Amino acid sequence: MSARTFPGGIHPAYHKLTAGSPIRDLPPPAQVVIPLHQHTGAPCQPLVQKGDTVRKGQKIGDVEAVVAAPVHASLPGKVVAVEPRPHPAGRDVPAVVVEWDGSDATVDLEPHPDPHDLEPTRIAEIIREGGLVGLGGAAFPTAVKVRPPAGTVIDTYILNGAECEPFLTADHRLMVENPQSIVLGLRALMKAAGAPRAIVAIEDNKPDALEAMAAATRGMPGVSVEAVHTKYPQGSEKHLIKALLGREVPSGGLPFHVGVVVSNVGTAAAVGELFATGIPLVSRVVTVTGRVREPANLRVPIGTPFSVLVEAVGGFNGDPLKVIAGGPMMGVAQYSLEAPVVKGTSGLLVLGPEDRVPEPTSCVRCGRCVESCPMRLLPLYLEAYYRAGMIEQTEALHAMDCIECGCCGWVCPARRPLVQSIRLAKLEITARRRRAAS
Ligand code: SF4
Ligand code: SF4
Repeated sequence: MSARTFPGGIHPAYHKLTAGSPIRDLPPPAQVVIPLHQHTGAPCQPLVQKGDTVRKGQKIGDVEAVVAAPVHASLPGKVVAVEPRPHPAGRDVPAVVVEWDGSDATVDLEPHPDPHDLEPTRIAEIIREGGLVGLGGAAFPTAVKVRPPAGTVIDTYILNGAECEPFLTADHRLMVENPQSIVLGLRALMKAAGAPRAIVAIEDNKPDALEAMAAATRGMPGVSVEAVHTKYPQGSEKHLIKALLGREVPSGGLPFHVGVVVSNVGTAAAVGELFATGIPLVSRVVTVTGRVREPANLRVPIGTPFSVLVEAVGGFNGDPLKVIAGGPMMGVAQYSLEAPVVKGTSGLLVLGPEDRVPEPTSCVRCGRCVESCPMRLLPLYLEAYYRAGMIEQTEALHAMDCIECGCCGWVCPARRPLVQSIRLAKLEITARRRRAAS
């Protein structure tokens, strides 16, 4: 297997402290807080109210919108509140709060262990009803992803096992410990999308995962496992497609425009569980790492507060400076440890005072940000134009193509807040486009 890659990118210290830590099931917490908006698309409306009793796997929120995914109770018990609560995205979001009753009462489950017997549209329906979204972080509804617009031909399904963000190892452990679920999920996803072939892409710093997935897919027609070069952001959809197939997703386009669907291996594992057992998406694996006493990979019910995760790994190791949901490159700093694990939470990273980033100084025009940008943008100019209020110029320099990977800021010797400025420029461009269209 030869390692493939793309131009640009960086090689940060990977700090995969938990690469050898088997996934541990966390005992259910006393309460789960299940946000009604955990995906890209329209938020769900509650289907329960305070005082109701729910079973594990019961649908508690849904919405009639194409781009959406229902949410389910992750524990059985009593609904004690339906109200706005802190969300890892950084704002309060309506949530259903369930107090666990100590039982394992679960809804009646309908497994489909052989997805090949089902029509593609039926597979997509099951995936939607199971509440599946991309577990890599973006949380795009999986049922929408596997059914692109009519007339689109999908020739390749890519399973993303790169896990290129430093510190995170949840996908790595899933591939080593649970390859059969990933394979079952992949079969369902390929059938739904009509893809005749699939590539499982794994960074070459995970030889045990490469081995486990190669063994699990052996003999599967059209499926191969490929090593990709260990480089950030290798796990970006567009860069995986470029590295594996040499295809460029056009500016403003999506993978299906070049005949590809990309899903995370964690998503495939959850799809596999759904088909094998009938259980909707009610738990996930989270890497809890950084400056904590016992970094670990924990399988937890969706809605488990971050404070419970920190306690489960022995607490903070020293004074925390910052707690991040996700990895250090693309994660979101938290303002409350009462925010819960949502479907897209791949990790919880604690940084200490030693990790403090120095104050920014003036740009020295070294060009390193340009060299590192995997989207071939000009981050120094994008930032300068944004700060000068010249939004049209940021748009002309393709700010909307920025994938917010953070490579430019990471290499910048002046510690310019490049990605923060570009993110704000994108928000302003989007707002202007909306105003112009209305
Ligand atoms: S890396 Fe930083 S200092 Fe160098 S050109 Fe880019 S913004 Fe300026
Ligand atoms: S400009 Fe955007 S895509 Fe390019 S390196 Fe910076 S954050 Fe990544």
